[in-house]
Amino acid sequence: MRENFLPFALPDLDESELAEIREALNSGWVTTGPKTKQFESAFAAVVGAKHAIAVNSCTAAMHLALEAIGLKQGDEVITTPYTFAATAEVIRYFDARPVLVDIEPRFFNIDPSLIEAAVTARTRAIMPVHIAGLPADLDPLHEIARRRGIPVIEDAAHAFPSTYRGRLVGTLSDVTCFSFYATKTITTGEGGMICTETDTLAERCRIMALHGISKDAWKRYTAEGSWYYEIIAPGYKYNMTDVAAAMGIAQLRKARTMYERRREIAQAYNAAFSGAGELQIPGDRDDAQHAWHLYMLRLNLDRLRINRAEFMEELKKRNIGASVHFIPLHIHPYYRDTFGYRPEDLPVAYREYMREVSLPIFSKMSGDDVQSVVDAVRAIVVSSRR
Ligand SMILES: *Cc1c(COP(=O)(O)O)cnc(C)c1O
Repeated sequence: MRENFLPFALPDLDESELAEIREALNSGWVTTGPKTKQFESAFAAVVGAKHAIAVNSCTAAMHLALEAIGLKQGDEVITTPYTFAATAEVIRYFDARPVLVDIEPRFFNIDPSLIEAAVTARTRAIMPVHIAGLPADLDPLHEIARRRGIPVIEDAAHAFPSTYRGRLVGTLSDVTCFSFYATKTITTGEGGMICTETDTLAERCRIMALHGISKDAWKRYTAEGSWYYEIIAPGYKYNMTDVAAAMGIAQLRKARTMYERRREIAQAYNAAFSGAGELQIPGDRDDAQHAWHLYMLRLNLDRLRINRAEFMEELKKRNIGASVHFIPLHIHPYYRDTFGYRPEDLPVAYREYMREVSLPIFSKMSGDDVQSVVDAVRAIVVSSRR
């Protein structure tokens, strides 16, 4: 058993982030400026997006996207219960309704075959989430959206770098929102990115990210800029700082290497656990690249004498950090009480949640770290199988 505790997630940071941050500090420009512009262009180039707008979180990115499409009170947005708080709370910011559609059991993503039945005259958007970094099945979603004339806004907080049918997530839907939170596949501490191919949406997001002002601070205060600006709407304060963007620039350079390491770890886990009848390894799609932000293991509870909570407790005793993704939105008090959901209303999400355990998967893990997780999981299975 390991001597020290293996955290569930750790960012992969070194001298390269420090060098970029030092440059930002030395330049005297610490808020939105040249580093942010550079990060936006570099990110846009990597995913092949026409517009990339850096903001201070993925939550902000999704809020701005919904604002840009004109979401209003009483409108509905179709999304999944199997996600983090942010995806649905941004819909509530408008006093609109998140219509939760159950997941398909293989990948934890929204079930496209259930969407049509959830569409009403008030539906204004579909918001899929690419859980763990495995893209939702976007083609059928786009087909429904096209027929209904509504946009698709992706919560791609886990999905960098992910591909769907040969194309990188970031260019596939009307708007794609990424997260650079501390635990995500690349980090700026806190941060997010809005990608879109649509000029009008990009323009609106950019303006609303900074007080609804028609020119940003960088343009205003540099030599070629002017002092004049106009407030065209009551916007928000969602801009990314140059200190954060500096970190992002260095992270982006390492993104491929970090992704390859996570993939290696996922393969090692898959090889170790695929033969165990007590466990179910994460599903993968032939037509997609999984970003492996999370490794979502499932327990076959009928084959074990312990439940998921006890399994987590056993991991902790063996010095392994683990987590659960996600407690479905509809069983949280707010959504349960506001919309009257019962757990069995979205049965697949509830059932799969009850047996999910996320194992550590981050690029800084050593071979010994990976082996210690494998050993711990195997030991727990052996001692608690029926
Ligand atoms: C992390 C996360 C978010 C929120 O990202 P922030 O950058 O922290 O706002 C949104 N959706 C999902 C699925 C997430 O995991």
